[in-house]
Amino acid sequence: MASGKRRTEENREFNQDWTESFAFICNADGLPTCRICHEKLAHNKKSNLERHFTTKHTQFAGKYPTGDARKKAVGELQKKSVSSMLSNCTQSSNNVNLASFAVSLEIAKRG
Ligand SMILES: [Zn+2]
Repeated sequence: MASGKRRTEENREFNQDWTESFAFICNADGLPTCRICHEKLAHNKKSNLERHFTTKHTQFAGKYPTGDARKKAVGELQKKSVSSMLSNCTQSSNNVNLASFAVSLEIAKRG
């Protein structure tokens, strides 16, 4: 008669809600990466993300309470990182800037 329903507390997969709640995105390895400090976590555990966010980004959490405000702020973070890369590249006629941009890209690629 028992249905044997089990509730899993910990998902092994990245939950899209975490982007809005904790400013984390899913990287190429399928692991959560912090949008604010770019730290990568080793496990898709909500408790780990929550702890990282609440201990390291208290200011962000305080400034943008859960809900629409945070959703927007996280969206802005994502936009900013993309557009600053683009504007570095296109608006700069300075070769030194372009070169250093290329170097930092190389460094980023090598990890
Ligand atoms: Zn972080």
